[in-house]
Amino acid sequence: MIEETIVQFKARLPDHVTLVAVSKTKPAEVIRRAYHTGHRIFGENKVQELVDKHAQLPEDIEWHMIGHLQTNKVKYIASFVSLIHGVDSLKLLTEINRQAAKHNRSIDVLLQFHIAAESTKFGLSMERARDMLTAHPPEEYPHVRICGVMGMATYTSDTKQIEEEFRLLSTYFDTLQSQFFRGSAHFSEISMGMSGDYRQAIDCGSTMIRIGSTLFGKR
Ligand SMILES: *Cc1c(COP(=O)(O)O)cnc(C)c1O
Repeated sequence: MIEETIVQFKARLPDHVTLVAVSKTKPAEVIRRAYHTGHRIFGENKVQELVDKHAQLPEDIEWHMIGHLQTNKVKYIASFVSLIHGVDSLKLLTEINRQAAKHNRSIDVLLQFHIAAESTKFGLSMERARDMLTAHPPEEYPHVRICGVMGMATYTSDTKQIEEEFRLLSTYFDTLQSQFFRGSAHFSEISMGMSGDYRQAIDCGSTMIRIGSTLFGKR
């Protein structure tokens, strides 16, 4: 039962860790059942699916876009999205700012870093992030709030490697905080940890875990 699973999962989480329930591929009815336990934060990785589910489900759900976001699709989610996890270019940041301005709001985002050994995953390097924020400081996109960092560890059973990658992301967070976001209260999130590795992620400083299959079953 999704209701029991989600309630029990949350009861075991430390207070400082936010659960993003990753509902991709699951029907609206299942999300509604999770919603009725009191849970409000859901993550999707495809724009069309996110738009459809937003239209069908209660307005007070906080929708997180956790997948790779193409610049030309920002406009479809800009009016309602609550947090965009995967921002890894200036182009995307600029477009989110432009679309948020049109809706008279600001949009919260996380900078995605490439921490895994696999070369297929998206994300910034620390060097690129630093160059980007130096040349284009946060004041240049007033309708975007950079709230922290996001990353995915290598898909491996080597827990030591996973921990090293999560620790690396934590140090990136610390570095950015001291160099670019000193005194900024909203730069506070480290989004890392999925069903297979969330325990290590929490040990390494995660503040936000993105859990799909452990809650909703296999996709
Ligand atoms: C699907 C997905 C998750 C959740 O994965 P599970 O292994 O099912 O918990 C987390 N983060 C991202 C970016 C995803 O695409």
